[in-house]
Amino acid sequence: MASVKKRLPGNVAGEFYVDSTCIDCDQCRQIAPATFRARGEHSIVFRQPATAEELRRADKAMVACPSGSIGALGKRDLSEAIAAYPERVDGNVHFCGFAAESTYGGSSYLIVRPQGNVLVDAPRFARHLVRRIEEIGGVRLMFLTHVDDVGDHAKFRRHFGCDRVMHGDDARFPVERRLEGEEPARLADDLLVIPTPGHTKGHQVLLYAGRMLFTGDHLAWSPEEHSLTAYRDVCWYSWAEQTRSVEKLLAYRFDWVLPGHGPRHHCSSREMHHHLERCVRAMKGERQRSVGKTR
Ligand code: SF4
Repeated sequence: MASVKKRLPGNVAGEFYVDSTCIDCDQCRQIAPATFRARGEHSIVFRQPATAEELRRADKAMVACPSGSIGALGKRDLSEAIAAYPERVDGNVHFCGFAAESTYGGSSYLIVRPQGNVLVDAPRFARHLVRRIEEIGGVRLMFLTHVDDVGDHAKFRRHFGCDRVMHGDDARFPVERRLEGEEPARLADDLLVIPTPGHTKGHQVLLYAGRMLFTGDHLAWSPEEHSLTAYRDVCWYSWAEQTRSVEKLLAYRFDWVLPGHGPRHHCSSREMHHHLERCVRAMKGERQRSVGKTR
């Protein structure tokens, strides 16, 4: 819970504030960009919410914040914000909110399907979220993109009895469906797992319904560059492998990218393909530059 004693000095005066426990995960800036902004290694409130919609978003950011770093001077009724999660992104795909601190505030998603719901990476095991997920059919499968974003996976497994799907090279704990190798694996007609080693050795992405790609920490959207991007500074295994794995995705068509961190992006699959080509070119260029540097 946020403490006014730890209120960051960069916050604008008024009801909402961010305190010094902020881990700079970016969720609040995604959810309520009119209120929160990055400042140094934290977020701050740069403008107090003024409209009903801005207030609603600030409340939702407060609920999603993994470290409880967003506070309000008065007591706020968060019931509406809590009930907003899981929040529909497109069709039957939802953003779970309730980020876990252990995932550094990673985004997790719920695909609601008649054949059984799929949780993509694990959020915080929060009572309200769990109840809401129960109401919309529970969880049949939990797809874990990689070892950093597993969150409260064990609690979700225990509660829903769902099978966890993970690559053997990243599974540091027993999982019910352990995938191996680099061949894509079809979990169902509409669920294709594509191994993408690079960020970690056992990283995988999930292509849903031939159009929505859950990318974990493999691939992200950069609003600044208006392009797809990958983060070299947090590549823990191999940048060369990650480049190769991003290039491999050129063989697929998708119009949504839903990453573990940062903004989601939707455009035509044709445009997405161009963004991906540009990203691969940039990654290869960067690799050549860095090879040059080491000589
Ligand atoms: S959601 Fe919380 S932890 Fe993440 S940037 Fe905002 S205040 Fe910081």
